[in-house]
Amino acid sequence: MNNNQKPSPPKHDPDEDKKRREQMQRQIRFSVGYLIAGIIMLWLIQEFILTPMTIQATELSYSDFRQKLAAGQIVTATISETDIVGKMKNPDPNGSPATVPFDTVIVPGNDPKLIDDLQAAGVEYGFQRPSSPAGALLLSWILPLVLLGAFWYFAYRRMSGGGLGGIFGVGKSKATEVKAAEVGVTFKDVGGADEAIAELQEIIQFLKTPEKFARLGGRIPKGVLLVGPPGTGKTLLAKATAGEAEVSFFETSGSEFVEMFVGVGAARVRDLFEQARKAAPAVIFIDEIDAIGQSRAGAVRFGGSDEREQTLNQLLAEIDGFQTGVSAPVIIMAATNRPEVLDPALMRAGRFDRQIAVGNPDLIGREQILRIHSQGIKLVADFDIGRAARMTPGFSGADLANVMNEAALLAARHNADTVTLDDFEAAIERVVAGLEQRTRVMNEQERTAVAYHESGHALVAELTPHGDPVSKISIVPRSRGALGFTMQMPTEDRYLLTVDELQDRIAVMLGGRAAEKAVFDKISTGASDDIMRATELARRMVTEFGMSELLGSVRYAGQQLQYLGSAIEDNSGLSPKTRELIDAEVQRIVTEQYERAQALLKGHRTALETVARRLLEQETVDGRAVQEALGVEEPASSRLVDR
Ligand code: ADP
Ligand code: MG
Ligand code: ZN
Repeated sequence: MNNNQKPSPPKHDPDEDKKRREQMQRQIRFSVGYLIAGIIMLWLIQEFILTPMTIQATELSYSDFRQKLAAGQIVTATISETDIVGKMKNPDPNGSPATVPFDTVIVPGNDPKLIDDLQAAGVEYGFQRPSSPAGALLLSWILPLVLLGAFWYFAYRRMSGGGLGGIFGVGKSKATEVKAAEVGVTFKDVGGADEAIAELQEIIQFLKTPEKFARLGGRIPKGVLLVGPPGTGKTLLAKATAGEAEVSFFETSGSEFVEMFVGVGAARVRDLFEQARKAAPAVIFIDEIDAIGQSRAGAVRFGGSDEREQTLNQLLAEIDGFQTGVSAPVIIMAATNRPEVLDPALMRAGRFDRQIAVGNPDLIGREQILRIHSQGIKLVADFDIGRAARMTPGFSGADLANVMNEAALLAARHNADTVTLDDFEAAIERVVAGLEQRTRVMNEQERTAVAYHESGHALVAELTPHGDPVSKISIVPRSRGALGFTMQMPTEDRYLLTVDELQDRIAVMLGGRAAEKAVFDKISTGASDDIMRATELARRMVTEFGMSELLGSVRYAGQQLQYLGSAIEDNSGLSPKTRELIDAEVQRIVTEQYERAQALLKGHRTALETVARRLLEQETVDGRAVQEALGVEEPASSRLVDR
């Protein structure tokens, strides 16, 4: 067991170093590439632009030239130090033009009779001033080199954070600024997000009265990351934060920073922060930050990743660089529905270290949201918003807004004066048809199964001596597959776990299935994740922690091999017999705990019913409800019975 070391705060960030090294490498790569391209360009200029200007002439050997001179074919000649150029009669007597240019290489002073012969042949001849070598060099080499150098300099500057982007205007941020007076959204417009709102209060206090925080010397979070599925009101919350604090709001999206040209995104980030600082106090909101913040590790590298990486580096630099000063407080908020792909560097302390989960609303939340969105709508007098909320489990805030709007449209279509619950129901159908992929709408039977399943987890957690107390149970479907969840709140951080504790954990994991079995005598597919985790843990107990008496304190876990970025286990060193034994032991542990969970739940059947029923009614209940249900059922002392 090697998990007893406390994570020490990193003094020196290796990530940071790596980043800097990568940036250096990139710049070197860029410079070398540019040099090679430049040399090729120069060569091309020499070969195809400058040279053809001088010779488009027939190249004659000196003997040919002499022969043609003797034959009276040469018309004009200009003699320079290295060659004779001039015009001769067209070799094709009928061809046009009558004369064509020629060029002959000579060695000066080798043919003293040349002038006499030219004179004799009546050629119009002359000499060319020896060209200044400096001039030629300047024209054909230095000037292009200087031009190339200048271009390189600008490109390099932009790459490492200069400012050509600004010159072309592409480096301007596309963020829209909403002035404090025009934000017009407050927390009153956000329903069912009480927890998120509570967490944001501190940010608002800071934006409003930064001096107060400075006096106490506390460090204010600079970045807040809102995490949650689409349509749950992340953008709305960010805007409402600015609205509540009465500060300017800068809204932009991660994709606006991802551009084809390296450096543009980084320039935009710079520009955005500059604007915000000028307008401070302000809230910067970056929607879908995963577009730029994706983990740099393991990403397939194509041309585009360079740009994204630079933009990300610039963003990190800006976040690190600015002081959320007393005079000009700026808070950065960002939203994502895929927190798992974000670069860990973003989440480090001092950056987006405050994360707020925004989930699909529960029953009460949905009721609030429906109330908010029915404000402009004429509902029939006895419209039961509570029932409307009950009809829409798993809907996000945006879905609810959509349904309400759709209901109004339907009512208008049949010329009604008010919107009824029937309209609402019809609207749900329409919206759901469009949502099918996204939202799970569970039927009553499934809901009941999930309610018992989650209650099972919760009760076993409360009933086992080492189970962590339950803080919340919910049957609000999540977008990422889970139909419900049970949240446990450990009372302390644990680094060493005993066999008993691990067994209890396994029992809790299997409590869901045990409840389904106990109540319906039927099992469903809903427990596959639980089973996987329980099996995994049991296997580690046997192969890593040496907790099986049969196998002893020997490590059987294979070596972890890194294969194509994912860890796989190499078990080839184990004999078939050992493997069989391991499997048998794992199965024994899991089965024992499953049976234990079942026995516990059978013994507390009334509590199970109570909790499940409350869950079905309210969709979310907190841990106290579980403890209450058990407390009503029997005196507390009986909790030790199962030891
Ligand atoms: P996200 O940014 O999480 O995808 P948005 O904030 O863009 O979601 O929500 C889209 C719209 O849905 C909002 O403009 C609002 O009308 C409605 N909406 C979403 N969540 C809520 C909520 N919790 N309360 C009220 N309205 C909401
Ligand atoms: Mg949004
Ligand atoms: Zn479960």
